[in-house]
Amino acid sequence: MTINHHPPEDLLADFGAGRLDEADRLVIGVHAARCPRCQRFIAAIEQLAGAALEQAPPVAMADDAFATLLARIDEPASPPAAASSQPVELLDDDLPEILLRCRFGKSRRVAPGVKMQPIILPGADKSRAFLLWSAPGTRMLEHTHTGTELTLVLKGSFSHQGGEYRPGDFDFGDGEVDHQPIVGSDMPCLCLVAMSGDLQMHGWLGRLISPFVRL
Ligand SMILES: [Zn+2]
Repeated sequence: MTINHHPPEDLLADFGAGRLDEADRLVIGVHAARCPRCQRFIAAIEQLAGAALEQAPPVAMADDAFATLLARIDEPASPPAAASSQPVELLDDDLPEILLRCRFGKSRRVAPGVKMQPIILPGADKSRAFLLWSAPGTRMLEHTHTGTELTLVLKGSFSHQGGEYRPGDFDFGDGEVDHQPIVGSDMPCLCLVAMSGDLQMHGWLGRLISPFVRL
């Protein structure tokens, strides 16, 4: 897999420092699991964070802290990931390992040729995660965002002004990015998306249908 598009460094740094919302963390984590370059960057950030901790003044620990820790290690591992509450309808085979452990909501059609299936993340705060399936050749409406949109291609491809995005590639969108992705014509495109805020469509058609495009 050749990855040409990576998350911005500030997002990777926030990931390494544990500052990301759960949905954003999921998308960055799935990308990094397949991307040695981003793994190295995150490892460097974690090392820096660790060094900062070592230099911090010691904090008094409870007398039983060590015993509590040992007891926790002895606890049986949490049961294997809860089975999906809904079957993963948007992909019949190899979801990345991390996603296999997620719970999914019901899939639904959001626009002609476009379906989504929400991922249930109990800790998600500002953003939400979902799988997005688009039919070959789908032309998304030109749009921008009130929040952020983190997109990771799992299968197929799409392209917009920023270039072509294939499996493993990461695309970042926010209010400053105005784009109109077109799905590759050879096969459907499946993406993992974390989104905060809403999409804003352009043009009279966009304004007409935006009440129906609920992601
Ligand atoms: Zn990367």
